[in-house]
Amino acid sequence: MQLLSDRVLNMSTSATLAMAAKARELRGEGRDIIGLSLGEPDFNTPDFIKDAAIQAIHDNYNSYSPVDGYADLKQAIITKFKRDNNLDYTPSQIVVSTGAKQCLANIAGVMLNKEDEVILPCPYWVSYSDIVKLNEGVPVEVQTTIDTDFKMTPEQLENAITPKTKMIWYSSPCNPSGSVYSKEELRALADVLVKYPDIYVVSDEIYEHINYIGGHASMAGFEDMYDRTITVNGVSKAFAMTGWRIGFIGAPEKIARACNKLQGQITSGANCIAQRAVITALNEPPSRVQYMIDEFKERRDLVLELLNGIEGFKTNIPDGAFYVFPNVSYYFGKTLHGTPINNATDFSLYLLEEALVATVTGDAFGNPDCIRISYAASKAQIIEAIKRIKNAVS
Ligand code: PMP
Ligand code: GLU
Repeated sequence: MQLLSDRVLNMSTSATLAMAAKARELRGEGRDIIGLSLGEPDFNTPDFIKDAAIQAIHDNYNSYSPVDGYADLKQAIITKFKRDNNLDYTPSQIVVSTGAKQCLANIAGVMLNKEDEVILPCPYWVSYSDIVKLNEGVPVEVQTTIDTDFKMTPEQLENAITPKTKMIWYSSPCNPSGSVYSKEELRALADVLVKYPDIYVVSDEIYEHINYIGGHASMAGFEDMYDRTITVNGVSKAFAMTGWRIGFIGAPEKIARACNKLQGQITSGANCIAQRAVITALNEPPSRVQYMIDEFKERRDLVLELLNGIEGFKTNIPDGAFYVFPNVSYYFGKTLHGTPINNATDFSLYLLEEALVATVTGDAFGNPDCIRISYAASKAQIIEAIKRIKNAVS
């Protein structure tokens, strides 16, 4: 009998995590790799949050929490949703999970039936399509280009809808393009969706605070979309807490209760110390972490300026998150220092081998013409990495 399930055999490895592992392995062999593959802030978690975790340990938080999160954490999330997004949720609409990634897995697990379609505007975050497929759904990719700042137009959305469409999943600010949908742009998409009352929206807002133009908009903020939007958020990015693994949703009650049920059979709930620390993180105003956002913005400007000086890198101006997503198709069909480049995967691997810089192929995000460069790295590393890339392609 086959050892592993078809389910896992048919699943791709997370390309972001795989590239980070590869970079780590090469570093272990003594190679001087600069890692621009992982979307992980290089800052430390702020001290005021660490102190809250230490206090929670001393206060003997060591038992299972309620499956969907401590009541006072849910209250802090409700306050955060109201303060930052003007969204009203009640405790039974909130579920705290082991990272926003588990929130997404829960949503897919409780909402998808075999062959239900999920519209994914491309480029999308790497794990969306595999989470959908793992749950027997069918990802429906909608290609966007630099010309529309990698945003899906209402016409494209309308054309992608079929009787099997169950949901649409997007992130804004977007990983990997950095695009930020304005309120008007979301409203235009909502105007299409109001004609199809059975379609739900997963609005992944984990980069909410990493926004260089301001004006973060939530799909659930529209009265006619509130009842069919699941807002996903978390602390990994803005609070530099990737390893603490806390994410959360605000959702229609039926969906939240189903996520609670699923999670109760799978993890029993998120880590109790991390949950206590997140109460402190969310109760503080976002201005406490503005220094990180300011630094990311300077790095974005630096990356764009440096990439501008390299032939064949075409980028949009990312308004948020900490990635640039250059189109590098100019190099396809060429041979660089003896290596034939036929696609973005070849190009990204070439940069790893030749420039010792880790990036991620755009294929993993549903766009085969681009690569993703994370600028969650120091300015010195960014400058050195782009110098190496320039040398490798010239
Ligand atoms: N959504 C997006 C768009 C992401 O980039 C990430 C990456 N961490 C996640 C969700 C998952 O975040 P986490 O599980 O660390 O909360
Ligand atoms: N979200 C990050 C990224 O896109 C972290 C890696 C992951 O969870 O896949 O790089």
